[in-house]
Amino acid sequence: MGDHVSRRGFIAATTSAGVGLALARVGQAADKPAALGGKPVRGKGYASWPMITTETEKLVGEVVESGRWYRSRSVDEFEEAFAKINQAKYCVATASGTSALLTSLGALGVGPGDEVIVPPYTFMATVSVVLVHYAMPVFVDSDRETFMMDPGKLGAAINERTAAIVPVHIGGSAADLDSILAIAKGPGVPVIEDACQAHLGQWRKRGLGTWGTSGCYSFQVSKNLCSGEGGAILTNDEAMANKCFAFHNCCRPYGRSSAGVAYDGGRNTNARITELQAALLLGQLPHVEQRAKTRAENAAYLSSMLREIPGIVPARLYEGCTRSAYHLYMFRYEPEKFANLPRNKFIKALRAEGVPCSDGYGPLNKAGFIRDALNSRGYKRVYGEAAIKDWAERNACPENDKLCEEAVWFMQNMFLGPRSDMDEIAAAIRKIHAHAAALASA
Ligand SMILES: *Cc1c(COP(=O)(O)O)cnc(C)c1O
Repeated sequence: MGDHVSRRGFIAATTSAGVGLALARVGQAADKPAALGGKPVRGKGYASWPMITTETEKLVGEVVESGRWYRSRSVDEFEEAFAKINQAKYCVATASGTSALLTSLGALGVGPGDEVIVPPYTFMATVSVVLVHYAMPVFVDSDRETFMMDPGKLGAAINERTAAIVPVHIGGSAADLDSILAIAKGPGVPVIEDACQAHLGQWRKRGLGTWGTSGCYSFQVSKNLCSGEGGAILTNDEAMANKCFAFHNCCRPYGRSSAGVAYDGGRNTNARITELQAALLLGQLPHVEQRAKTRAENAAYLSSMLREIPGIVPARLYEGCTRSAYHLYMFRYEPEKFANLPRNKFIKALRAEGVPCSDGYGPLNKAGFIRDALNSRGYKRVYGEAAIKDWAERNACPENDKLCEEAVWFMQNMFLGPRSDMDEIAAAIRKIHAHAAALASA
């Protein structure tokens, strides 16, 4: 508490006098853009990722020395802790986020002839796991304001073949869980949350990934909590926990649950996590809450500044999203408000100012790997050529196509520094805005 107060005091002290200082330090909008030979707003990089701590080194060293490399007490300890911080009853750690999703769908018995509803604005793994189960991906278009699956278009996509809905909490903000869960409830379709980017993100103050039948996390190295590779499934449903455990571990029963809960799904795999990965995760757990808070505070401050710049539209959070994990900070860029400076030139100019950014995802519903999978022998046999032929047309996502042309991202590690880092980002964008015409014709 004392910490909190002094931090607030510090911020208050730096905002009035500090803004002037920050502007002097980062340059006025009148300065020449770095892309045109001026001085970059930021000369140094951002916090490197992953962050290595001595606790992590110690815990990993202990596992190495013990020879206890196979799924054992470090994994148990991590599962318990991760369930707890998200207010979930059960956690099954897995080899990756992809295998957490694959396992969740496997536990539901998803297979050939089933349909699985997915959003188009996500990493490919959300859809690749559907294809591994020989189910049919059905895309529901994005809401460009929030970058999430548009719940207004979800109902029309559900039919008697729908085996699961996989909303993605993209960037670590929440999909509209109230609407999605309400729509899924009528026909009784399970919801599997892809929370692979959403560590410590919340919906109505409770962890993302704890609202559906299960929620899936990734600990791939770029993620806000990471172990190189790794993943986890959260659930409050004991039967689901057992099925997931069995699916991911060669049909073996869940060690900590009552014996005799049989998994009748048959299909299974080895998607186990190791003790070494669990040690890496345990070493970082003491820091995740503070990091999540810092990212959210910095992101909110940045949004308050960026909303004032014409042509910059930060992704809107749903009212129920009480905390975004801000794995990605996403906004839409409108070139017409920047003297028609194309997005790729805007990104180049921003990078030249020392602010790394990217143009994000392409339209996933048009990805070559989906087309190839659907045109494979197995798919043609299960679904028939006609259904495959008009799949692309049935899965058009015009709003998402536009979104993919407008989006700009910052990565999570840029939000772990002081608030003045946000002033720099805003100053760099203001500078580009002021010189947009010159940048467009350069
Ligand atoms: C990272 C990610 C995955 C896959 O996780 P891996 O651990 O890389 O297998 C799935 N969905 C989303 C949205 C992701 O960002």
